Amino acid sequence: MRKNIVAGNWKMNTTVAEGVQLAKEVNEALANEAVNCDVIVCAPATHLASIAAVINQDKLGLGAENCADHASGAYTGEVSAAMVASTGATYVILGHSERRQYYGENSAILRDKLALALANNLTPIFCIGEVLEERENGTYNEVVKTQIEEALFNLSAEDFSKIILAYEPVWAIGTGKTATADQAEDMHAHIRATIAAKYGKEVAENTSILYGGSCKPSNAAELFAKPDVDGGLIGGASLKCADFMGIVKAF
Ligand code: PEP
Repeated sequence: MRKNIVAGNWKMNTTVAEGVQLAKEVNEALANEAVNCDVIVCAPATHLASIAAVINQDKLGLGAENCADHASGAYTGEVSAAMVASTGATYVILGHSERRQYYGENSAILRDKLALALANNLTPIFCIGEVLEERENGTYNEVVKTQIEEALFNLSAEDFSKIILAYEPVWAIGTGKTATADQAEDMHAHIRATIAAKYGKEVAENTSILYGGSCKPSNAAELFAKPDVDGGLIGGASLKCADFMGIVKAF
């Protein structure tokens, strides 16, 4: 059966010392109480090795926010999937809308990143989602289906089964405007049906599909109660341990 997961995306926030402190707090909170989902923090690449040294990854998973689309070589400033894996992290966010929007990441680039992540035994948390205009003009289902088909449907069923999906309507990210639980459920069901049509019902039923976009302690329970919403990818609210744990405890 698919897992329920709450994953934090710290984005470009915190120094190494602040990030280590935050990870320690979350780790300690998880050591002190039983929770009903897997919990992951995705941190800046500079922080990963230091965080890996202080957390118990049986309780708190660790991921990067990105990795390069090349294995190694003359790509100044890039961080490869192998480098991420060498820190002790085991997850990587790929295809976040901020990477697509500000760094020109398209499906071809994302296919390369996915292949490298999987080759280095990293679990991709792959983000998809429509912009406001696409929500308003009614093309959102088609847009998200195309994002999935273009970036993921070259994968074998075995490799596809290793991926976590995150539906993040771009109009809801960092805006305080959350998709309603019904809007999220409709899209998650559509995503699951898209996967089922390609890989079969079993693969689709076993794929964790997270919701992301202004998820917070006050709205998490309603979102997570929906049958096809398997957790959340959390930006702003993952930067404070109490808020993040409030979301984790919504399960
Ligand atoms: C995100 O960036 O993945 C995200 C969901 O951000 P926020 O929770 O701040 O909207």
